[in-house]
Amino acid sequence: PIKQRLLVVANRLPVSAVRKGEDSWSLDISAGGLVSALLGVTDFEARWIGWAGVNVPDEIGQKALTKALAEKRCIPVFLDEETVHLYYNGYCNNILWPLFHYLGLPQEDRLATTRSFQSQFAAYKKANQMFADVVIEHYEEGDIIWCHDYHLMFLPKCLKDYNSQMKVGWFLHTPFPSSEIHRTLPSRSELLRAVLCADLVGFHTYDYARHFVSACARILGLEGTPEGVEDQGRLTRVAAFPIGIDSERFTRALEVPKVQEYIRELKERFAGRVVMLGVDRLDMIKGIPQKILAFEKFLEDSPEWRDKVVLLQIAVPTRTEVAEYQKLTSQVHEIVGRVNGRFGTLTAVPIHHLDRSLDFAALCAIYAITDVALVTSLRDGMNLVSYEFVACQNSKKGVLILSEFAGAAQSLGAGAILINPWNITEVAAAIGQALNMPAEEREKRHHHNFVHVTTHTAQKWAEVFVSELNDTVIEAQQRI
Ligand code: UDP
Repeated sequence: PIKQRLLVVANRLPVSAVRKGEDSWSLDISAGGLVSALLGVTDFEARWIGWAGVNVPDEIGQKALTKALAEKRCIPVFLDEETVHLYYNGYCNNILWPLFHYLGLPQEDRLATTRSFQSQFAAYKKANQMFADVVIEHYEEGDIIWCHDYHLMFLPKCLKDYNSQMKVGWFLHTPFPSSEIHRTLPSRSELLRAVLCADLVGFHTYDYARHFVSACARILGLEGTPEGVEDQGRLTRVAAFPIGIDSERFTRALEVPKVQEYIRELKERFAGRVVMLGVDRLDMIKGIPQKILAFEKFLEDSPEWRDKVVLLQIAVPTRTEVAEYQKLTSQVHEIVGRVNGRFGTLTAVPIHHLDRSLDFAALCAIYAITDVALVTSLRDGMNLVSYEFVACQNSKKGVLILSEFAGAAQSLGAGAILINPWNITEVAAAIGQALNMPAEEREKRHHHNFVHVTTHTAQKWAEVFVSELNDTVIEAQQRI
């Protein structure tokens, strides 16, 4: 039988492209969560549509890249530099990202952003239409189109305007904020209406879905039902689809000799000390300063632990050209320096802070040797680091301290110690509780989370979303 085709549309393709010559490119597949999720969905023939992350102004380069990407089942959308600046850096990362994570704009940027809002929003719509044009060019009747994330909120509208028969789903990977936040956006109504053109709208958690439905009710005056949002008899189905990870990719990695070698080295390196771990992009939403302040408070309160515990913080650089992120970097460095100065000894420091990413093997090894993982996100759509940590902990059965503001708190809450990252005293106490937790309780908590992580996988997530989308379309046809 011929498989149903699935067109996955996301801002970025899952490859990085490096130009090697006028008409030659080298491609590197990045194995993110979405890629492995869709590799697992074998009932469909999946294709990717998105931006390759590089500016290719010339036709020879575009043709060559298109051809190279075709072998990886990827189809490029070419965005010019001006569009990338206004749409991606501007509207997406400077307006929607902070807003959806409940972060205000920095005071000095506020008026500037307000002034440039219209041009950024225009570029956002234009860019979404450019994605739609590529989808339309490749669309065949019966295809499923799955649009991803806050970059492409206009895409469902662009597609349905062209052909109302297209099966269109949209999934948001960030939180959707309270309607009180969303209503401050000048383009609040247009964005909601564009998303509502989709047949199925998905979020990580029930709360985000509820926020979306109430934004539609309060801002657009539409009726929210348990099924979704209704507008003049037409239903847009809205539901929660919590993402997972490809847990086997992690459990298998722990068997690889290179990873086991790393594990041996790390165990030796940190012998005699309990290892606490943070793995985050260096982003405001991750609450890294709050985490380090809580660790400092814990060391203050617990002198007996000072030379027995180490905090490894992997801070992956992100959006490094943006002033606010540079400021965060120096702020974190300052606090780390202070804590190490206060509590370090001639032979040991309490915090190992790295401003870089790790390769997959090293990351798995670090997860495996950790005793306590510390996730302090101020807001986080899901937080996959917490899932990955759990997947790698079957021999240690370490403790997960998890922010209640991460989507993962909804699914791993029963096994983790949940904390409010703004409450330094509470987080410091949770660190103490984790370090002193009896083995039996640790095992019980770990088991609970391990079962969840290994059964609610990324593959299942994608399968459920796509089959729900198919069902939604069939039900809608029956209603007519
Ligand atoms: N990660 C990585 N290299 C690193 C550290 C982390 O590739 O050095 C990955 C990690 O495995 C995880 C992702 O980055 O899959 C982070 O996802 P998460 O949902 O926790 O947060 P996000 O960065 O998407 O906000």
